[in-house]
Amino acid sequence: FQTVSVLGVDFIKATNAEFLQALFNDSLQRKNRFVVTANPEIVLAAKNDPAYYQTLKTADYITADGIGIIKGAKILGTPLPERVTGYDTMLKLLEFANQEAKKVFLVGGKPDVIQKAREKILQTYPHIKIVGAYDGYFKDDKEITQAIAQSQPDFVFAALGFPKQENFIAKNRQLASAIWMGVGGSFDVLAG
Ligand code: UDP
Repeated sequence: FQTVSVLGVDFIKATNAEFLQALFNDSLQRKNRFVVTANPEIVLAAKNDPAYYQTLKTADYITADGIGIIKGAKILGTPLPERVTGYDTMLKLLEFANQEAKKVFLVGGKPDVIQKAREKILQTYPHIKIVGAYDGYFKDDKEITQAIAQSQPDFVFAALGFPKQENFIAKNRQLASAIWMGVGGSFDVLAG
């Protein structure tokens, strides 16, 4: 995709449909991908934290998750087509994972939230194999990273909030050739 820079962060110039098609193709080809759906808070955090900025630079796709980014890009004279949110993207990937009977790994949220999110996914997407579901309040990530390495998921959804989720993905993405995506508060929404 072409990209549009907003305060030094390079956003992909893609509609939801175009982006999803790219992710489906990547998944079918077993590509390793790091997806960031960035809101204005993430852009500001990157501006103020060089280490986080460098972490974002390693992402394969950064999407505009917030009307502030869309407005900013328009003002800069380099418009982006539309918002591409983490939650909507996650739901579409879950649909795809269900169709393809793919393996999904979940990490993040409080213990009751991750359990409810897991159950909701199992009910709604019966062909998905949930190969891991861990809450996001671990002291060290060893047990989780070992489980990822062993289960070789096709999708890893990390709902740890920023910058924790991006740091977790950047550190561990070599453990499995998966689509790795930070999904913020999405498990809370899913759990209801
Ligand atoms: N979270 C987590 N571990 C942490 C901090 C946050 O699992 O150490 C989870 C939190 O329970 C919530 C999600 O991360 O489900 C998103 O948190 P928040 O709303 O603070 O982040 P944002 O959506 O603004 O990125």
